Amino acid sequence: MPSSASFLRITAKPVIEKLEGETRARVESVTKKLGRPPKLSVILVGNDPASVIYTSRKGEMAVRLGMSHETVHLPATATPSEVKALTDKLNADPGVDGILIQRPLPKGFREEEVVYWVDPSKDVDAFHPETAGKLMLGLPGFHPCTPRGVMLLLEHFGISPKGKIACVIGRSSIVGKPMAALLQQADATVIQCHSRTPNVPALSSQADILVVAAGKMGIADASFVKPGAVVIDVGIHRNAEGKVVGDVKFDEVAPKCSAITPVPGGVGPMTIMVLMQNTVLSAEMRA
Ligand code: NAD
Repeated sequence: MPSSASFLRITAKPVIEKLEGETRARVESVTKKLGRPPKLSVILVGNDPASVIYTSRKGEMAVRLGMSHETVHLPATATPSEVKALTDKLNADPGVDGILIQRPLPKGFREEEVVYWVDPSKDVDAFHPETAGKLMLGLPGFHPCTPRGVMLLLEHFGISPKGKIACVIGRSSIVGKPMAALLQQADATVIQCHSRTPNVPALSSQADILVVAAGKMGIADASFVKPGAVVIDVGIHRNAEGKVVGDVKFDEVAPKCSAITPVPGGVGPMTIMVLMQNTVLSAEMRA
């Protein structure tokens, strides 16, 4: 079992630095072919404070990479048919490569309808059922940003899922399910736990790679973790002291791991980076 000092911190910073260089080069190349930079359009409905921050971060990153970006900000009173009409307009615009409808949407929007709105060829957030279907079948297409970000972190730090037992805690459409699919495609044997799984620690503690995406602050303590495991914490929460923390009790779990992502600075920054890469990929396919 590793000593408390021996675990590796899997941080996004070196990965982002490397990917920024690669992505900038792709942006330059596709800009020459298209005669314009790749463009991301974000639809923001209402003023949810976290969404406003996330949206402006997406814009800043796009600018840093030499891409074009717009946020179309609609009031919280915008109706589903107004937002659908705007999405149709962006779908038809040949100057737009990626469209993202920022969640959460105000009450009155039905997710089972909204997921069909963005054209699959511009679905850089990977919410459309066609995009999800391609992922499940292992066909080329956009990968959801957070799970793809986790795969890039593992790859960068030389952690191969091949032949390993992986456990994903969470089964949401945008994190847990695609995370399990990507790990399986990378030749891991995947255990998937969710809110109705009895005795999660009995299963998760068998995993060589444990991804926790339950959306419950500090849910994973040392009993969830096999000694020497790699632990990826997808959760993001603000605790009572105002500190950003994850789903994993880091101080208790880290000494038991061979490698672990901190929160903040682990999975979080990867999501926006993959969104940019997906937008560049969309522009490359258009070119
Ligand atoms: P979600 O609430 O949609 O899904 C949570 C999943 O966890 C559900 O499938 C549920 O069955 C499962 N779950 C809940 N309680 C559980 C328990 N006690 N035991 C086992 N499983 C349990 O959340 P989500 O959208 O998948 O996000 C998960 C977390 O990841 C949240 O904290 C969210 O803020 C964070 N997140 C981070 C990023 C990022 O960029 N790092 C992106 C998306 C989500």
